[in-house]
Amino acid sequence: MIKTKAAVIGAGPAGLCAAISCSRTLGRGSTVVLEKQTKAGRKLLATGNGRCNISNEDISVEHYHGDKAIAEAVLEEFPCGAMYGFMRESGVLLRSDGEGRIYPYSNQAATVLDALTGECIRQGADIRTGFEISSVKKDGGGFVVSSQDTELRCEYLIFASGSAAAPHLGADSSGYSLLEGLGIKHTPLFPALCPVVTKEKCKSLKGVRVKGSVSLIADGKKIKERTGEIQFTENGLSGICVFELSRDISEYLLSGTIDGSKINGIKLSADLMKEHSFAEICAYLDEIKRLPGDRPASEPKSCAQLTRSDIKALAGTVKGMIFTPTATGGFAAAQVCAGGVGSDEVDPRTLMSKRAKSLYICGELLNVDGDCGGFNLHFAAGSGLLAGRLKK
Ligand SMILES: Cc1cc2nc3c(=O)[nH]c(=O)nc-3n(C[C@H](O)[C@H](O)[C@H](O)COP(=O)(O)OP(=O)(O)OC[C@H]3O[C@@H](n4cnc5c(N)ncnc54)[C@H](O)[C@@H]3O)c2cc1C
Repeated sequence: MIKTKAAVIGAGPAGLCAAISCSRTLGRGSTVVLEKQTKAGRKLLATGNGRCNISNEDISVEHYHGDKAIAEAVLEEFPCGAMYGFMRESGVLLRSDGEGRIYPYSNQAATVLDALTGECIRQGADIRTGFEISSVKKDGGGFVVSSQDTELRCEYLIFASGSAAAPHLGADSSGYSLLEGLGIKHTPLFPALCPVVTKEKCKSLKGVRVKGSVSLIADGKKIKERTGEIQFTENGLSGICVFELSRDISEYLLSGTIDGSKINGIKLSADLMKEHSFAEICAYLDEIKRLPGDRPASEPKSCAQLTRSDIKALAGTVKGMIFTPTATGGFAAAQVCAGGVGSDEVDPRTLMSKRAKSLYICGELLNVDGDCGGFNLHFAAGSGLLAGRLKK
């Protein structure tokens, strides 16, 4: 049996930051990180299309969903400036892309992963890969964690095993099951930041990307609008603004509620020419109709044949293309998981379990998910650093 003061389950951004912080708290040689995959940080390497959008200039609780008490407590300890400082002392300079998204100067996720693993090693933490935890038991004042062939005893245990989002990167929900075994519950889990499947298929538009806005209509009322790229897919919609509405759509499809309120029906309305009004588009179509020489419009009519009501209908479609969500891309296509362990189970100020003393939970396992734009990695790092302080 291996004996150590502290063990961290999972070597993603939350686990690596927890190990750095834990080693600073307990000293060199105190902390072991247990990672089931052959390498640390596999999901981290895929973030931001390999560029790692690690934080955002606009870090604030409004960009987080789920358990706001936990999000607030983590952000209070780890605001945007703290990420700049932490990465700087780990050897990485960051910069904003001009729209608030923060990346490593190198634009390489590998730079961030190398810095985090390097800092773990400098602080004397031991990262063991190929170590899949299949059982966790309380043992006296501590814990025994086991893989198929090895047992490890520790006084402090930090769970940082992430969620089931993106299983192709090795993710699974084993962390939630292990926590359940210790009596620690979580709220329902559902995919977020993912594409949406719609009843209306626009196969001819597949692959087309437009800058526009998408509104979420619940029971006939617009409740949210997001601006950004809209992408047409084989069976629905994708793109950042659709990703940002997918959390509510997932919740509605799972439980018939949005933010906990009962909803009877939802639609998406896409504005494909946000900066032009309905009247401007009508005027433009009218201009085209009057130009000499005929142009194709929509089958079977040409532009010259468009009537006033055809023009209004076309402009109406451009300004408000309606879609009915029937499913999401699921965890397979999701960047994050909504739901998780909440403040009924952990103290937000410490992230220590209320049921098991000396057990801490951080990262995506918690019931906090952020918008697109660096908010999730910021939370993973901040919650890991907080958990690793082992505050009581
Ligand atoms: C394609 C993609 C792009 C993304 N881009 C961004 C972005 O640009 N910006 C952003 O802010 N967020 C982004 N995210 C979200 C972000 O990656 C996650 O929120 C973040 O990685 C969560 O960190 P974590 O450490 O909690 O979990 P993870 O990164 O999932 O790490 C958990 C680790 O635990 C290990 N593990 C799991 N179970 C066990 C077990 N039983 N035993 C041992 N080890 C175990 C896993 O193998 C994994 O290495 C993206 C996600 C995806 C999928």
